[in-house]
Amino acid sequence: MQEKLQKLLVNSDSDVVEMLASILAESDLSDKYDLIEANIADLTILKSNCLSNYSNKYKKIYLDEDMFDKIVLAHEFGHFMYEFFPYNDFEDLINHNISEAQKKFTEQYINGDLIDFYERRAKQKMEQYIILEINNFKKLLNDAVVNEDYNVIFELLKKTIRNDYQVNIDDSEELEQKLLMILNNNSLEVVVKYILDNYGIILANKKAMIRLNNEEPKGISMLIDLLSAIHEGKYYEFSFCHKPDYYKKSNDRSFEEEFANYVALRLTNCKKALQDIGNILGYDYLLMMDKFYNIVLENMAQKKNQELK
Ligand SMILES: [Zn+2]
Repeated sequence: MQEKLQKLLVNSDSDVVEMLASILAESDLSDKYDLIEANIADLTILKSNCLSNYSNKYKKIYLDEDMFDKIVLAHEFGHFMYEFFPYNDFEDLINHNISEAQKKFTEQYINGDLIDFYERRAKQKMEQYIILEINNFKKLLNDAVVNEDYNVIFELLKKTIRNDYQVNIDDSEELEQKLLMILNNNSLEVVVKYILDNYGIILANKKAMIRLNNEEPKGISMLIDLLSAIHEGKYYEFSFCHKPDYYKKSNDRSFEEEFANYVALRLTNCKKALQDIGNILGYDYLLMMDKFYNIVLENMAQKKNQELK
């Protein structure tokens, strides 16, 4: 599968393709590769300097180099898969099921153990890991200053600028100009503080999320992001959840986010988390997702000759 994928995705970064191949090989798609083959060549997957995301305009998945993690890639692949879902055909069914799921969620949010368990666990672990990762980062920065290792500081400053401006500027003129401007006008102390505030803390949050997902039960951040999407971001304030504004952009935004999280959990075999989503939102919800997942696969098996959305 890996060879096939590498051949199809020639314009992609090979280490991300390799990761996708291994996700697919270990998932329930391992023997259904022919289903996705017809359309996967339209996709480009690249390593990014900041934030993982999927662009449906350009059919590109960007995987954040600081979050080089299977479940994150599987989530973005879920966004790509969603393009093959004919949302309009099922809008009424989805609305019905989501309002049932919303009801179940709010009931249990008040007095259910399971939601409470996941929220507490995520809070506690995130706090713990963020502190740990910030300390690791401070040590790295401090050692670089003490040892006058300006290369390290320079590289971190580049990452900070990329994050600060939220763009994928490679070693372009823009990046060089900003680098020079910052270095020429500030003391080392100020530069170090700029790096810590504008990159170190963000990086610590990303790394903490990856650590959280690797704890048992696996995939907690995706489970919480899915639950969060049910109520369009109103209940959770974790750094890995979308804010309510994100969901205002289109009608099916929240459902797309649920689907991406469902795919992420499914492709990375987070069985316990999926089961608990059924326990929280009802098994009809899981059955619906399973049905839609299969519809998407059927649609992916055909070369798209008409727009589905
Ligand atoms: Zn997403």
